[in-house]
Amino acid sequence: MLRGGYRLPFRLAGIPLYLDPTFLIVLPLLAWMIGSRIELYVRLFGLPLDPAALQAGGQAYTLGLAAALGLFASVVVHELGHALVGRRYGVQVRRITLWLLGGMAQFEEIPRQRGAEAVIAIAGPLTSLAVAAVSRVALGLLPWSASGQFVLGYLAYMNVALAVFNLLPALPLDGGRVLRSLLALRLPYLRATQVAAGLSTGLAILLGLYGFLTLNIFLMLIAFFVYMAGNAETQTTLITDLLGDIGVREVMTRRVETVPPDLPVADLLQKMLRERHLGYPVVDGTGHLVGVVDLQHVQGAQPDATVERVMSTEVVMIPETGTALEAFQIMSANNFSRLVVVDARKEMVGIVSKTDLVRAIQVRVVGAAFLPAAARG
Ligand SMILES: [Zn+2]
Repeated sequence: MLRGGYRLPFRLAGIPLYLDPTFLIVLPLLAWMIGSRIELYVRLFGLPLDPAALQAGGQAYTLGLAAALGLFASVVVHELGHALVGRRYGVQVRRITLWLLGGMAQFEEIPRQRGAEAVIAIAGPLTSLAVAAVSRVALGLLPWSASGQFVLGYLAYMNVALAVFNLLPALPLDGGRVLRSLLALRLPYLRATQVAAGLSTGLAILLGLYGFLTLNIFLMLIAFFVYMAGNAETQTTLITDLLGDIGVREVMTRRVETVPPDLPVADLLQKMLRERHLGYPVVDGTGHLVGVVDLQHVQGAQPDATVERVMSTEVVMIPETGTALEAFQIMSANNFSRLVVVDARKEMVGIVSKTDLVRAIQVRVVGAAFLPAAARG
């Protein structure tokens, strides 16, 4: 998620800043929403301002734009709060991205130091509260400027809202990270993520329902985002945690069925049906691996065509010293469902398939439920 975007021509504290295309939609929308509700906001902030004067001469939308830009600047400061505290724990931020639903600091990795994630997560909302306080004080110093007071009043209000919203205990929001980090003090990390993610899903559904009943499209979008991102986060954690320390050798299939290059496609299909395999390495008479063939290659081929005609010669290999996590990463990056495992002499010693990895994950998940927290070390 959020890999593209326009890079802004400056860095903040050494961190590049990106604008996602969705941000360019939401900025004018937000400016318009604020501009058309000046009166409502003035009442909300409890400021002694005259709404009519603020809206004079089409000024309302300029004010709306200023407030919207201020809000996004606040979001960037919030993310910087995370980034600078993260640095103290040795975790670098690759980039900060502004998008449809605010900002996102993308860390190189999730800090695993005990409690570090909670401290980094809480830094964001605390920064927002500080921005709110500063805006409130600055507002008092501007008695001559009604528009300045309006924008600062808006920022004082919205930064508190930003802090409160981000403290919802749902992954990937800050509150969810605090919760997971605290749970991880007592539970294995994986279990902590599962518990936090379960709670996130529940909250996302409640939030979405509330957004639906109040016809709040932003709330529905946020609920959807929390739901999707929470799941993605769980999966990434699961996979990293489960496959990181397993060797390819432990999960691969050793006794590999192979097919010769001159086998007709019709016979290959028979073999697939009989052995319930969807793919085979193709090995020639001298024992050399010359390609791989799977169901996709066979589709639309003439029954009497040979395997050699349809197979893929692009064989993706992984050394037998690799980890299951590396195998998974290679497969996802290239959309392959199996890799050939080779030894130091580049000779095939087995095959590792997605099914092998899924099986390894399942075994570990069941195992993790029984592991005491101390076993993680
Ligand atoms: Zn945050």
